[in-house]
Amino acid sequence: PLPAQPERPLRILALANQKGGVGKTTTAINLGTALAAIGERVLVFDLDPQGNASTGLGIDRRQRRVSTYHVMSGDAPLADAVIPTAVPRLSVAPSTMDLLGLELEMANSADRAHRLRNVLKGVGEAGTATEGVTYVLIDCPPSLNLLTINALAAADAVLVPLQCEFFALEGLSQLLRTVEQVRGALNPRLTIQGIVLTMFDPRNNLSAQVVADVRSFMGEKVYETMIPRNVRVSEAPSHGKPVLLYDLKCAGSQAYLRLASEVIQREGRMPVAA
Ligand code: ADP
Ligand code: MG
Repeated sequence: PLPAQPERPLRILALANQKGGVGKTTTAINLGTALAAIGERVLVFDLDPQGNASTGLGIDRRQRRVSTYHVMSGDAPLADAVIPTAVPRLSVAPSTMDLLGLELEMANSADRAHRLRNVLKGVGEAGTATEGVTYVLIDCPPSLNLLTINALAAADAVLVPLQCEFFALEGLSQLLRTVEQVRGALNPRLTIQGIVLTMFDPRNNLSAQVVADVRSFMGEKVYETMIPRNVRVSEAPSHGKPVLLYDLKCAGSQAYLRLASEVIQREGRMPVAA
């Protein structure tokens, strides 16, 4: 007989970096798509009021009647927000600008840091809208605010996109300190899954220097895969598609596929037959 399907525990990864424009959303969309392509079942949880992950996955504003705001504020169950995408095995819980108000609304509630953890309880269980989900990717806002704290409190691990630019390391220490604080106070199991260098430009000496600095500072935490700066990656969202659907052969798509395999290897998982 065939061996039983290896167990695939649910993994919750927060894509976090308090800098904007470093590739969090692009990585949520495209790592999510690449993980789905190798057989994982993925939920992208859009925790940024900008809603760029939702838009980039082809979810227009009218489809966001129930959003992550409603789910986090306790107005609706997660199941009501989850929408399938054009990518098989990839769904999204979309966000709207309403999320901007949530921080203030939550400020005085005792569970303010654990809203998301509570929302994600039961993800993957049979008979739910997220049945079989093996990865939740949380797309965080560009700030270390209460929304991001919720993501870190709910996650098993953090994945940090870092842009290959001069100030890349500036801010990383602050993020790492925040991760330490959350680990101490809210979520003892939180780890750093890895750091992914984004928008790498091989023709740029500065890019190479940044890579060397980050690798010597963070060692093996840095994925071998670097995401190249690639115009197809930046075009894809305006078509409401992950780059893997827009142009599978381009360098950006290929890099995200390699990143997905590195991510599952770090967790000791084998690719599943789709
Ligand atoms: P964040 O979510 O951290 O703010 P985004 O993922 O939205 O960052 O990326 C910022 C901008 O950079 C977007 O316009 C995106 O299309 C572009 N971008 C991200 N990654 C790449 C890449 N590898 N090549 C080219 N453009 C990229
Ligand atoms: Mg973003």
